[in-house]
Amino acid sequence: MKLRWLPPLALLSFAVAALLNPGGSAPGAAADHDPVYGRHICIDPGHGGSEAGAVNGELYEKDINLDESLYLRHQWEGRGATVTMTRVSDQTKSSRERYELCNSIGADILVSVHTNSVSNSTSDGALSIYFSNGDKVLARAVHQKMYPALKASAPAPDAFIDFGLKKDPLGVLLKRTMPSVTTEPVFMSHPGEAALLFTPIYAEAGTPNPDCVDCRRLQITQAIIDGVDNYFLNFAGEEPDGPGPGRGQGK
Ligand SMILES: [Zn+2]
Repeated sequence: MKLRWLPPLALLSFAVAALLNPGGSAPGAAADHDPVYGRHICIDPGHGGSEAGAVNGELYEKDINLDESLYLRHQWEGRGATVTMTRVSDQTKSSRERYELCNSIGADILVSVHTNSVSNSTSDGALSIYFSNGDKVLARAVHQKMYPALKASAPAPDAFIDFGLKKDPLGVLLKRTMPSVTTEPVFMSHPGEAALLFTPIYAEAGTPNPDCVDCRRLQITQAIIDGVDNYFLNFAGEEPDGPGPGRGQGK
């Protein structure tokens, strides 16, 4: 799906038009059916500050993760969710600080946003990491949407591997109290992905980048948004079955 930036003014105009349209739905009707409306989502932009995460030339994982996370917050808040972020700038945060924050606010879910990397630069694909059984339901719902969407738009779709779900007590997943997933949507070590990932969603804090029209980072955020919708619509509260087929390593 082609995603375009909706500035606050456009959203306001849309809301006013809906209120003025006597034949339209009653105000709040759409919100009642929005799967994230009224939910509390904790977003954890992986790494930050002195911890860069993966690096490929001038491309830093911590920056990609934060840029995507800020956009996720914008989208989810625009749909009536409450969003808490473990960092909103280039800050160094321990895993403990992150999960303690998400636990303290009683979030419904935690989404830890990462970007994968591996020494073999020909590798590309999507991986979703979980730890507990509750995590696995969320990870599966997100992965169901994330993998096919990002494969279809990948620089080399035929080589875009489904790394599946992987159980790993990684970082924030270890001691959080709500269903949580660590997303590893693509490999920034792949030269084709790296070239696409260079385009940020935000040119600077809060200002959309006009060069990012259906750019790779927007495709990634949309895949995560669709996955979280899938979870709240179809899987929230469900018990998982069996171990995941995941392989590979998240970064
Ligand atoms: Zn990472």
